[in-house]
Amino acid sequence: METIFTKIVKGEIPCYKIAENDKFYAFLDINPLAAGHTLVIPKEATDWLFDITDDDLSGIILFAKKVAHAISKTYPGKRVGMVVIGYEVPHAHIHLVPMQTMQDIDFKRTRVKLSSEEFQQIATAISRFI
Ligand code: 5GP
Repeated sequence: METIFTKIVKGEIPCYKIAENDKFYAFLDINPLAAGHTLVIPKEATDWLFDITDDDLSGIILFAKKVAHAISKTYPGKRVGMVVIGYEVPHAHIHLVPMQTMQDIDFKRTRVKLSSEEFQQIATAISRFI
């Protein structure tokens, strides 16, 4: 299955990349709840995260752990929230959102507008800690 996210993995659509390994990929959400809001995906498309194999589910959580620590070092605060939604893009993904308060992870909130320079600076800052 081809999705927006498989096109990102293949480099056909640009993104602000945070990290990758042979199976998983992390990049900044283009419409973030907060600076540093990152999506973690399996490179191979499956619609729902909980349909991927047990090994891949364990693997993506461990990969997300590294990314969450890198976000936390970049944006020291209370927590990095982890959310699975999947209403918009039919390619399994985990949202990682730096939080100072519970309100920071309210998906009904107005999203943050960032310039391409700001996105690039954020991606560089987080990926330095991977
Ligand atoms: P969900 O499917 O979990 O409801 O949300 C999908 C998320 O993917 C949204 O937060 C949206 O901003 C993000 N998104 C959708 N299309 C793109 C894209 O082309 N590039 C990036 N970086 N993020 C995207």
